[in-house]
Formats: sequence, C-alpha cells, structure tokens
Amino acid sequence: MSPNSKPCTLCTTPRDILVRCQTDSTGKWHFVCPGACWRSVSGGEEDARGFEKEFPHYRYGGMWKNRHADGPTSAKKPRKVAERQKERRAGRGEEGKEESGEC
Ligand SMILES: [Zn+2]
Repeated sequence: MSPNSKPCTLCTTPRDILVRCQTDSTGKWHFVCPGACWRSVSGGEEDARGFEKEFPHYRYGGMWKNRHADGPTSAKKPRKVAERQKERRAGRGEEGKEESGEC
C-alpha cells in the first residue's frame, strides 16, 4: 500500500481514493471508501438525492486521491461531476495542500 494513502474513517482501511463527505450534524468531513462505506452513508448517490430522510446530514465534498499512487486504480467519473467538483474546490481552497504539484 502506498505510504500516502489515507484511512477510511469508517473501516480504517488505507485507501488511495476516498470520498470526502459530511455524514452527521457535527459537520466533520470524513473520508470513506468509495465502495461499501460510502454507500452506507450516502445511499450510493453522490448528493444522497432521494435519501434525504435516511441521510439528512450527508454532504458530498469531492474525491480525495492519493497523487503519489500510480497504478491501475483511478477514479473515473462523469465530466459533469468533475466540473462541479472543481467549482466547489475553487470556492473552498482548503484542499489545495493535498492537490499541490499541479502547476
Ligand atoms: Zn471504508
């Protein structure tokens, strides 16, 4: 496993790709596996659409990717999602630390 991977806050498994999201009223950002763990907090919808009752505090905050890991693992997603994510990131500016090295 890559030294820069981050543990899932739910199952603590180190991952190279995680979904950043809020899952409760504390507003704390969690990093969860894009698979089962994420589905368990979002219902499998990026914005938990249709699951507002089950996951009222869920909020999607983008994908976290370990830039130091290369290999077959890559988070492919529709361009629409990527663009939205970029906008949000631009308005936040707190994730730049981990995404550095792009310029
Ligand atoms: Zn997990």
